[in-house]
Amino acid sequence: MDNTKESQTASEIIPEQMGYNTKFQFQCHKGVKCFTRCCRGIDIMLTPYDILTIRKEFGITSEEFLAIYTDIHLLEKADLPIVTLKKLDDEAKSCPFVKDVEGCQIYPFRPSACRYYPLGMGSLSYASELNKGKDTSSDDAFFFTVKEAHCCGFEEKKVWTVAEWREDQGVNIRDEVNAGWTDLIVRKKTIPMSLKLSEQSKQMFFLACYNIDKFRQFVFESTFLNKFTVDKDKLEEIKNDDVKLLQFGFDWLKSIFFKEGDISINKPEQ
Ligand code: SF4
Ligand code: SF4
Repeated sequence: MDNTKESQTASEIIPEQMGYNTKFQFQCHKGVKCFTRCCRGIDIMLTPYDILTIRKEFGITSEEFLAIYTDIHLLEKADLPIVTLKKLDDEAKSCPFVKDVEGCQIYPFRPSACRYYPLGMGSLSYASELNKGKDTSSDDAFFFTVKEAHCCGFEEKKVWTVAEWREDQGVNIRDEVNAGWTDLIVRKKTIPMSLKLSEQSKQMFFLACYNIDKFRQFVFESTFLNKFTVDKDKLEEIKNDDVKLLQFGFDWLKSIFFKEGDISINKPEQ
């Protein structure tokens, strides 16, 4: 995964650390000569919330969305599966949702990676702090600009602070929802290799993070609730709320991976 909008090569990164109030000059619009250039020849990593929202807009299940529109990769350092948009088989290896003149066909519900660009995020502790409910608006999370040679957006006159850009692009809500997932990946990257996960645990990660409709079936239509104790109010909460179910899934994975949290494994009946 060296070519995602979230993990550019070092030579493309301007190594200036930026905070929420740092300003940068950038604008992207249909008039730029590079319009839609960045939607081709690149792997767009999808977050759990991206999949949840796009599949809902398309009126298909998460399983159908994954089968039609995505590729699965292994994030090597974390040894966990990640999902990217399946590129078209055209010469430019275009995103399946880009059109030459109109641009992004799913713009209102485009993925987080497309919203972040041209910013990257550099603080590994950021997701963990979000997950603990700490106000991160003034903490030391840092950002940087990702400047690709073909991108003319930096020649435009519009000036933003990082905070203004994040607000404008709808990044904050997405980061909040995805915080448990990011936290799992960050923590998994940092634990010793001796704590490697089983293949079954990785499959559970995939199910809970990316295949929300199947995960719902797994929770409510299998023996899941015989095996795990889940608070009654929590069960009511997650029954009809995809986002709450997703976040429950992150908590459940945390209990499996790190033996933390409120979800406990029931003892087998004697
Ligand atoms: S989802 Fe939209 S913005 Fe993102 S790469 Fe595809 S066409 Fe471009
Ligand atoms: S200005 Fe940059 S972000 Fe906008 S279309 Fe061109 S390459 Fe993409």
